[in-house]
Amino acid sequence: MKFYVDFDDCLCETAKAFTGIASRLFRKNVPYEEVRFFNLQKSFGLTDDEYEQLMLEGHRPEVLLSYEETPGASAVLNELIDKGHEVSIITGRPSSAYEPSRRWLDEHNLERVKLYCLNKYGRDSFIKNSEFNLELEDYYKMKFDYAIEDSPMAFKFFDHLPDMKVMVYNRPWNQDCELPGENYTRCMSWEKIRELVD
Ligand SMILES: [Mg+2]
Repeated sequence: MKFYVDFDDCLCETAKAFTGIASRLFRKNVPYEEVRFFNLQKSFGLTDDEYEQLMLEGHRPEVLLSYEETPGASAVLNELIDKGHEVSIITGRPSSAYEPSRRWLDEHNLERVKLYCLNKYGRDSFIKNSEFNLELEDYYKMKFDYAIEDSPMAFKFFDHLPDMKVMVYNRPWNQDCELPGENYTRCMSWEKIRELVD
């Protein structure tokens, strides 16, 4: 089986780190549980300039490397790979973040997963001239049996694979989102993902 796995807020606790950055840079103290929108500019109430600063800070290599692993992510993915499954991390981070993202994976025992940067959110605007190494047309040639994703904005990338099982990693910003089909399941933890795949 082939697995699509999102990086931020599936493998690691990105939004929690961003609440710390927003507090440090702008004294915006929004608890993680209250990050109700996938759009962090909206969740934190930031101006355009502040949002750009937030994103640049959050994509600095040292900061990317410091993100905490989501409990169980590495263990479950390694079990899948041991059983012969193929795991691709498809992240919305720009390819300028590739090196530290690759290093984060390697440092968390995920040397065997592949990593691709796909322009999921049209975020080229905040990191000037950012590039993504996976072109959309190449992405659409890839086939997956399972996807693990937290962002409702990324669900459109699954429309061409109606039989794929999508596991929506439960997060405050996807609570109110109606899941688009019966092939979607909300997962509270990697433990639950392990069960569903078994
Ligand atoms: Mg994500």
